[in-house]
Amino acid sequence: MAHALIAGGGIGGLATAVALARCGHRVTVLERENTFAEIGSGIQLAPNGFHALNLLGVGQDVRDRAVFVDELRLMDGLTSEKIAGMPVRERYRQRFGNPYAVVHRRDLHGPLLSACRASEGIELVASAAVQRYVQNPATVTVTTADGRTFTGDLLVGADGIRSAVRAHLVRDGAPRVCGHTIYRSVIPIEKVPRRLRWNVVTLWAGPAWHFVHYIIGRGEYLNLAATLDDGAHESVSGRPVRRAVVLSRFQELGETARLLLELGEHWRQWVLCDRDPVDVWTDGRVALMGDAAHPMLQYAAQGAC
Ligand SMILES: Cc1cc2nc3c(=O)[nH]c(=O)nc-3n(C[C@H](O)[C@H](O)[C@H](O)COP(=O)(O)OP(=O)(O)OC[C@H]3O[C@@H](n4cnc5c(N)ncnc54)[C@H](O)[C@@H]3O)c2cc1C
Repeated sequence: MAHALIAGGGIGGLATAVALARCGHRVTVLERENTFAEIGSGIQLAPNGFHALNLLGVGQDVRDRAVFVDELRLMDGLTSEKIAGMPVRERYRQRFGNPYAVVHRRDLHGPLLSACRASEGIELVASAAVQRYVQNPATVTVTTADGRTFTGDLLVGADGIRSAVRAHLVRDGAPRVCGHTIYRSVIPIEKVPRRLRWNVVTLWAGPAWHFVHYIIGRGEYLNLAATLDDGAHESVSGRPVRRAVVLSRFQELGETARLLLELGEHWRQWVLCDRDPVDVWTDGRVALMGDAAHPMLQYAAQGAC
């Protein structure tokens, strides 16, 4: 039995912890924040994601909280005409063995966190920001920002796109700012007129922008995400932004999409980042996973899957 240290308690870190514990290993998860939580927005889960969740023993729990969508739909954001649609109903679910679904991020992170808490082999340590590691032929030791040290047999860097473990292992500096701004909002479904409550992941596309929405939280919320290729060069993560600013940036939207965008409230803004692929994700007893290893833009909805 090995003792694994995991830097980062996001989706990737917790999934790794559950996987290692199910193989009989002891795990310590070190999370920078003072609580284990996810941001309050939606995420799409394709069948490959559910396949992994099934293997971790949390597939049913996530499915119980998920919305199984009927279609992935591409709309012309200017004319409001439908361009294309891909049905993802029963035939699709049977073909791939799992649904295409959407969830509130907490409904993915929550079951993984519960599985960690239920496992005797997993220790969760909050307020533990990993800064660096050293290793010898037998062990690896990490030091946290407050000077504590943790020693194990191996270290997994699951600490996201600005990974401290990666900084040590790959030494490729800060991630690249991609010049795309995304605005996100989650609103109670009661605010949405019934005729606009489609059980469909809908993407309205326009010149250098698109707007995506889908229902999450067992049908209780509508998730809105509007993205602009605006050449933004400053990295931004979850900054509150006024509704009027969001509306002013998507003035070309056709009538229906605009109605939906206008429903948004408590908007937050991100400027997206990624990195070039690298050949090496390991260094002796240390390995990277998730966004620490291979961050990608969200356009294929596959980063967490
Ligand atoms: C706008 C957007 C939409 C997306 N939509 C989808 C989608 O629909 N489907 C999909 O599959 N993927 C999607 N993704 C990608 C997905 O969100 C990520 O790939 C996934 O969340 C990465 O998980 P992670 O655990 O590797 O990293 P993170 O979620 O970033 O978690 C890292 C964790 O490590 C902690 N941490 C950071 N630094 C340290 C440190 N030094 N020490 C200890 N802890 C630390 C953080 O607090 C955090 O808890 C989307 C991404 C974006 C940006």
